[in-house]
Amino acid sequence: MSKILSASKCGFPCERNLFYSVNGYEGNTSSHSQRIFDVGTALEPVIVEWLRNDGWNVEYNQGSQNAEIEVSIELNGGKLIGHPDCIISRPEGLQNVLIDIKTMNERSFTLWKKEGSLKSKPQYVKQLHVYAAGLIAQGRKIEKLGIVGVNKNNSELHMDFFDFDTELMKSIQDMTERVFSLNDAPFENSPSESWCCSYCEFSQQCNLYGVPPVSNDKPEMPPVFTDSDIVIQAMHQLIDAREKAKQAKVQEDEAKNILDEHIRQKGLTSLEGGGYVCSITERKTQRFASAEFKKVHPDLMNQFMKESVLVTYTVKEA
Ligand code: SF4
Repeated sequence: MSKILSASKCGFPCERNLFYSVNGYEGNTSSHSQRIFDVGTALEPVIVEWLRNDGWNVEYNQGSQNAEIEVSIELNGGKLIGHPDCIISRPEGLQNVLIDIKTMNERSFTLWKKEGSLKSKPQYVKQLHVYAAGLIAQGRKIEKLGIVGVNKNNSELHMDFFDFDTELMKSIQDMTERVFSLNDAPFENSPSESWCCSYCEFSQQCNLYGVPPVSNDKPEMPPVFTDSDIVIQAMHQLIDAREKAKQAKVQEDEAKNILDEHIRQKGLTSLEGGGYVCSITERKTQRFASAEFKKVHPDLMNQFMKESVLVTYTVKEA
């Protein structure tokens, strides 16, 4: 059976979630997430009117999942599909810009405006790449991609444009084909970012550590209100620490890519310069294939399973 991954999903940083999605598992979208989605859908035509009033010619593909223009990219094992939002042009300005309209909360909007889409919204960038590749295959001319974002707190509008990247599109297709080919929910890249599980519609099916999340067994309770300064400060501290860790990871990966290119890929083991020596060490590692083992020896696996509780703290805007 041909599997389907939607463009809006392909950038979600957890391949386990994508596996559930393409294999027809029923997800549970919380009423809060649904409200956020509904507000975005309701505001979309309003934002299109703002663009028109600002002098843009807008070809609007209204209707979300039922919109007239659909893209479909055939891959091994299935296809990527999606419905692009708009193509906009400006008289005597930018032409044929494929955009996606996003509404964001204050924190998300401010970070995106500061860091740009490529760094702070890779999921949106990947979504647009699927739309662009599909439209180009249909013969449409696409000269730029862009995100039009609106801050839901104060209605500020910002636009960020970027180019189509063939390498990125190739990596999206490779990742999608890998997910299509899986027979079991994977462990690798699941999740690749810590925030995913709080926004995951498949958390009830996800059995990542051999047991479903304990919190799924408990009835959802409304949060208890606090005005304790020390607790509120701790929440800020946790958000701040996670943001710094995320940025540090990006910096580390960038530095490692450059060093890898100049050391390992050139057959060297170290380089000296600027008062530093950078050396590389390569070690073979082995991983216990617990998913495969469980499949072949389920009873044996159960005998040696030890239960413990992993506690995750999630802080998001109320
Ligand atoms: S609960 Fe977390 S690890 Fe499991 S599928 Fe969802 S995002 Fe991935």
